[in-house]
Amino acid sequence: MTRPAAAPDDFPFARRLLDWYDVHGRRDLPWKQGRDPYRIWVSEIMLQQTQVATVRGYYARFMASFPDVEALAAADADEVLAHWAGLGYYARARNLHRAARIVVDAHGGVMPDSLDALTALPGIGRSTAAAILALSSGARHAILDGNVRRVLSRLHRVDGDPGAAATLKRLWALAEAHTPRERVDDYTQAIMDLGALVCTRRPDCPRCPVSELCEGYRRDDAARFPRPRARRERPRRSADFLLLRDPQGRVLLERRPPSGIWGGLWCLPEVDVDPGEWIRHRLGATPGEIRERPSIDHGFTHFDLEIRPRAAMVSVSADAVADGADLRWHGPRELGDAGLPAPFRRLLDALNH
Ligand code: SF4
Repeated sequence: MTRPAAAPDDFPFARRLLDWYDVHGRRDLPWKQGRDPYRIWVSEIMLQQTQVATVRGYYARFMASFPDVEALAAADADEVLAHWAGLGYYARARNLHRAARIVVDAHGGVMPDSLDALTALPGIGRSTAAAILALSSGARHAILDGNVRRVLSRLHRVDGDPGAAATLKRLWALAEAHTPRERVDDYTQAIMDLGALVCTRRPDCPRCPVSELCEGYRRDDAARFPRPRARRERPRRSADFLLLRDPQGRVLLERRPPSGIWGGLWCLPEVDVDPGEWIRHRLGATPGEIRERPSIDHGFTHFDLEIRPRAAMVSVSADAVADGADLRWHGPRELGDAGLPAPFRRLLDALNH
């Protein structure tokens, strides 16, 4: 296939990067097959806090169930969250689902093709919107995700607090200046690939296609950039969660409120009262012995949570315990389908081994 002309010489960074990408770029990524903005959007959201290797499997299952924006908009929130279970940062899935409904209701099922309309959708920031447009249509938009920030910070020795507005402004200006006028789709993927494959936490400068333009490499201090974020002491919280089973071997799950940690997901019920009281009050049942199981530590973005499981058999017929919209007994098969967060999934898997 004949490639379009390479980027002109007023974009020396892009030219070198594209030459490298033609040989070393990751063109086998599943979301790189075709230019469907919906497929690109889903991949960009999944990749925001998750590595490519993990995303691949989730992406394939998500696309098999929700092949287009109409299918996603029509899906039940539980079903969408179940496909996200284990990926973490569940607000991403809730926003994706809400945004799909807006695309169907307000845009006739067609993904908007402007930066403003895309950033108006829940969960889509400036860089994600730019990536969707650049990768799907080749429109000239600069991106500034984590990989690009790292590359540009080293290339130009951008010092300063990485979260400060002035630093971001400088990086956005550099990102705009380096984005070529041609092959913007390839360039966008190429700069992400460079950050993921070469200019990683420990940069492999001798292998880098842009080393002769890189100030950090020339001054032999590239790894100093970007400046690490100031480390704050992470708060630690703890909470009790009930692991209740009934005589049929079913497990009781509760749907979390829509916002907050694990928002909208089915989890073991969290209790801030005496577990026996909770069982009597909420289930009208008499608990058997309540046993403490080993705690599990789970890290969120802003704090660490100590999960303290309290296990008991509920010694009444399961029929006496009414299922509700937010409280439901799950048999083994339903448990397999439920969108459980990773620590609860591991806890329940351990019970079965
Ligand atoms: Fe990153 Fe090194 Fe390449 Fe500079 S030369 S962009 S620091 S890999």
